[in-house]
Amino acid sequence: MFPQLAGRPIRVEVRRSLGSHLAASSIPRRVILLDAAVFARRGEFERILIHELFHFAWVRLSNQQRREWEDILMHELAAQATGELGWSAEWRKDTLSAKDIRNRTPRWRRYACESFCDTAAWLFAGLRKHDEFTLAGTPRRRRRQWFTAALRNGRDTLKV
Ligand SMILES: [Zn+2]
Repeated sequence: MFPQLAGRPIRVEVRRSLGSHLAASSIPRRVILLDAAVFARRGEFERILIHELFHFAWVRLSNQQRREWEDILMHELAAQATGELGWSAEWRKDTLSAKDIRNRTPRWRRYACESFCDTAAWLFAGLRKHDEFTLAGTPRRRRRQWFTAALRNGRDTLKV
């Protein structure tokens, strides 16, 4: 179930075209821009909007929560889990070097953030299948468990 959101209003604007991206957000300005193309395919509006919304949630997580999420990802990589739950995370995952992972470089952190947002979109958009959902079952379950526990600790309220 989608969590209760807590935070100041976030404006969502639909634009005719955003060029090569379907969405763009400004966290300081509290605005999400969506390309009108998100309406071309059923479920895409929800998937993309939830992804963007969780960018706002990511910056409100505690350092410990972000670190826990990174640990899940490091565990997956150590187990050579391929695939992701969205293209945004997947292409970043594909560019990671061993050094990025070891040193938790900005590239690594960007990947961690995008995988968090894509996982939320997978969990909450109500889509059972999507060609971008390529992560295997075991890591999917682990990620779902983490989200469930993290939201419960916040009494099911998500700060955005
Ligand atoms: Zn993103």
